[in-house]
Amino acid sequence: MSRLDIHQIPVLNDNYVYLAHCPETGATAVVDPAVARPALDAARAKGWEISHILNTHHHGDHTGGNLEIKAATGCTIVGPRADAGRIPGIDVRVGDGDTYALGNAEAAVYDVPGHTRGHIAYWFRGSDALFCGDTLFAMGCGRLFEGTPAQMVASLDKFKKLPPETRVFCAHEYTQSNGRFALSVEPDNRALVQRMKDVDAARARNVPTVPSTIGIELKTNPFLRADSSDLQRTIGMSGRDYVTVFAETRRRKDSF
Ligand code: ZN
Ligand code: FE
Repeated sequence: MSRLDIHQIPVLNDNYVYLAHCPETGATAVVDPAVARPALDAARAKGWEISHILNTHHHGDHTGGNLEIKAATGCTIVGPRADAGRIPGIDVRVGDGDTYALGNAEAAVYDVPGHTRGHIAYWFRGSDALFCGDTLFAMGCGRLFEGTPAQMVASLDKFKKLPPETRVFCAHEYTQSNGRFALSVEPDNRALVQRMKDVDAARARNVPTVPSTIGIELKTNPFLRADSSDLQRTIGMSGRDYVTVFAETRRRKDSF
């Protein structure tokens, strides 16, 4: 099994597009191409030939480059079976329990509805890499545009079970604003306080804070921590059930 080389491309205001390259076969995927040109240019600079697009969900800032990249490269577009009608140029439909081979690297596919109803994630176990789109962010999670809090909790629970060293390649640089909110609901979380110092220092130098890891998210991300007594106390919901606490935390973030 091959370990992917992963190249991060910042585009638009705060999106990240990724190139994932299998060094043994040359297979190269663009993950969530918001726009085409930066991905095509980055691939050329690397000497990589784009063979695939992996989409996590239908939003334009994740699929906007699909058709132009496909026209330029003849690549295969892989996306959510549950939302195939909204993925431009889709060729291969995948969902929960499927595996998908990118060269000699293999992804387990998860259905992770909540942000959109057909959102999926790709976990490349042999590369310690999770491509989760807009489901999990560094210290945050996606807005619930098309799903319920219970659905999002079930989706995030799938990520909580991954190895802590798994790198979280989310699709936006939202970390600093997410962290400010996280501190407002868990002000005494020491791991969170320290992480925000590191994040502020990185952003002051315009350095990406992504990828994160599952391990650090478990310690600092309030949307994985609805069972935290500190968080529950701060928002006045001590002892309430997990989904209710999550929903209130998400509601507060929406207007933070
Ligand atoms: Zn989105
Ligand atoms: Fe997005």
